[in-house]
Amino acid sequence: MDKAPEVILAKSAGFCPGVQKAIERVRKLVQAGKGSVYTLGPLVHNSQVIACLEADGIHAVASLDEVKGKAGVLVIRAHGIPPELEAEARHQGLAVVDATCPWVKKVHASISKYAQQGFITVIVGDRGHAEVVGLLGYAGKNAFAVDGPEEAERLPILDKVNIVAQTTQEAEVFRKTVAVVRRRGQTVVVSDTICKPSRDRQRETVELAGQVDLMIVVGAKHSANTARLAALCRRLCPNTVAVESDVDVDATAVRTARRIGVTAGASTPDSLVERVLCKVSGLHDDH
Ligand code: SF4
Repeated sequence: MDKAPEVILAKSAGFCPGVQKAIERVRKLVQAGKGSVYTLGPLVHNSQVIACLEADGIHAVASLDEVKGKAGVLVIRAHGIPPELEAEARHQGLAVVDATCPWVKKVHASISKYAQQGFITVIVGDRGHAEVVGLLGYAGKNAFAVDGPEEAERLPILDKVNIVAQTTQEAEVFRKTVAVVRRRGQTVVVSDTICKPSRDRQRETVELAGQVDLMIVVGAKHSANTARLAALCRRLCPNTVAVESDVDVDATAVRTARRIGVTAGASTPDSLVERVLCKVSGLHDDH
């Protein structure tokens, strides 16, 4: 039998503190018997976790219309929502519990502060992502969302700009976009709002991906931060595979690798990472 490959699990793999806290908070609401608990959008981008929460009486709804006339608690998830949507939820008579991550709240505060002083907001992030939708709500009409330096090149010439990052943004993308915006704005305030857990995860990922010959990124296909993590790994380790679960792990890729790195997006539960690790070691033992 070949020597078993070394498997290194990233310390930062899996749920970030913001997602973890939001999940703990909704579970406490259920335990406290607060009636029906709804979350505006799924708490995490992971169908298995959502199914577990649903079984525990925590229902993800896509819009306020779905809870119209219902009693219960509406939870704002870690991504946050636009202020006018929050006001509407409260107006609807629902008890609102705000589980917006403190790091996202910091971005809201930066945007509000400078928008009140007449600054245009430029958000470096995924336009359709819930967090960015929330940030745009705090920016008012004078805001742009760009996904990176190329889109920023198409911005008009601006007077006063506050540039912020989606909390999970890649540091290098933010840095390059800031350089472009500096050329297009007269007065540019740089609010580097990438959260510490994302920054730590990116740093650790870069270190790990540079040392292995196979990198496995565990997470849902539609999770933006998992996709970003996989793209980051691929630059340093071309042999990077993104898997949704242990079922997707390719036996040949595992058996031919000598050093394997495993990481996971911020919405991936530990149990899923565990299953992938078991599959990886099992594949080699079977060989
Ligand atoms: S990625 Fe960062 S900002 Fe977003 S929920 Fe997690 S800890 Fe909070």
